[in-house]
Amino acid sequence: MHENIIEIKNAAFFYDSETANAEAVIKNISLSVKRGSFVAVLGHNGSGKSTLAKLCNAILVPQEGKVFVNGMDTSDSSLTFEIRRAVGMVFQNPDNQIVATVVEDDVAFGPENLGVEPKEIRRRVDSALRSVGMYDFRGFPPHNLSGGQKQRVAIAGIIAMRTECIVLDEPTAMLDPKGRVEVMKTVKSLNRELGITVVFITHFMDEAAQADRIIVMDDGGIILDGTPKEVFSNKDTLRESGLDVPVAAEFADMLISEGIDLPKGILTADECVEAVADAAKKRGLI
Ligand code: ADP
Ligand code: MG
Repeated sequence: MHENIIEIKNAAFFYDSETANAEAVIKNISLSVKRGSFVAVLGHNGSGKSTLAKLCNAILVPQEGKVFVNGMDTSDSSLTFEIRRAVGMVFQNPDNQIVATVVEDDVAFGPENLGVEPKEIRRRVDSALRSVGMYDFRGFPPHNLSGGQKQRVAIAGIIAMRTECIVLDEPTAMLDPKGRVEVMKTVKSLNRELGITVVFITHFMDEAAQADRIIVMDDGGIILDGTPKEVFSNKDTLRESGLDVPVAAEFADMLISEGIDLPKGILTADECVEAVADAAKKRGLI
């Protein structure tokens, strides 16, 4: 068993490698994703996030360097099937990922293609739908579902294949706030309760703040890599790269600069409210 489910070693990727002076969109990236971890990937448009995602399950193969999934080299096409079984992908548009006219048939599609026995498929479909909170919708036509529900069905389709790792490429970008929260909650519980490794690409800072680790990409490279507290303390680097810090962190900083005594490293609204309430208590205001 490999401690790192994904291991990227000095990988470079070019979309037009034939052209002279072609520019790499992934530039000498090395990155390890630990089994069981929850990694968020941030970066402005065009920074290479989707390309990096596709390198993680052999949709793309680097022209330089190597990508390993559970120790399997993604450039070895005889391993592609096993690699895709280990690492599943969820994309941005929920409507492009649903193939069947009934929810449970859609979730069954992946395991059917893997040649899983019908009885076992039934078990997996039921448990996958329960894990994403969509069991009660198993007989529904997917087009009647909300965007967030469709994404949860797409996620169920991946976990029904018993993938060890899910790479989600901006799965919440097309969703309303309620759908975003549903998907985030689902993904977090799959990570915490089932131990599924998660690579979550997003441009929402508040979503990234919930990961164990954040990787920030810029121009095909990794410019920051650390815990949310570490990464969001690099405000200038983030701003230069066209990114922000979470609203709650910004707000806490503004309060601190107004002379209110709050701890450093506040990232979420809950932490901010708690710290402000503490400060108010200390001053005898509440
Ligand atoms: P992100 O997901 O961060 O927006 P991408 O990985 O999609 O970034 O894109 C990185 C760079 O590669 C961009 O400059 C983009 O224009 C280019 N690119 C992406 N897909 C293709 C493609 N299929 N063919 C050529 N260039 C591409
Ligand atoms: Mg993208």
